[in-house]
Amino acid sequence: MDGPRETTIRGMTSALQRIARAVSALERLPVQDQALSPAQAETLRFAALTRPDMATVGQLARVLGVRHPTAVGIVQPLIDRGLVHRAPHPFDRRSHCLGLTGAGREAFASLDSRERALRDSLAVLSPDELHSAEAGLASVVCGLESAGLIVVSAPCAGCVHFRPGDGTSGEKPHRCDLIHRDLGDAESEMLCPEHAPASSR
Ligand code: SF4
Repeated sequence: MDGPRETTIRGMTSALQRIARAVSALERLPVQDQALSPAQAETLRFAALTRPDMATVGQLARVLGVRHPTAVGIVQPLIDRGLVHRAPHPFDRRSHCLGLTGAGREAFASLDSRERALRDSLAVLSPDELHSAEAGLASVVCGLESAGLIVVSAPCAGCVHFRPGDGTSGEKPHRCDLIHRDLGDAESEMLCPEHAPASSR
């Protein structure tokens, strides 16, 4: 028989699975009279929030945990529906960057507002409960990332490759040692799927 700790872990696992089902149901609500799959909803989120030069199909495949051809198959219907556009990559001629069209931005705003139900559920927690839940869930996410099960996009701050102040111009005052590029303040604050937490090395 399980001890109290194992019982709690099982209970939390069930709760997380239920939350995942609720989020998936929210994302499946129709956009332009057509339902988005969870992977397409995640693709809209990726195109909306990822720094443009990192928003490639290759990075999308990493974030979705799928192979490149599968990512192409997920994004193409969104391009066909006029929600996502593909533009030449500014630094890599073999690559393209994904971004949202005007209709895509509207669809993303609609997705974001649907997630309000989740935010409202969290808002009933006390500040202490919220803080503990955030810290606990962050550890779980970190463990899943270390196990290679998920890719977590994050801004440059706290990334092992980030060199704040090492850029060569006032316009781009920071440097990334991974992609060997200078970055502006706004760029460094957008999400990057290559973020590697300094504490994990
Ligand atoms: S410093 Fe890290 S988060 Fe920023 S661009 Fe480089 S790899 Fe991405």
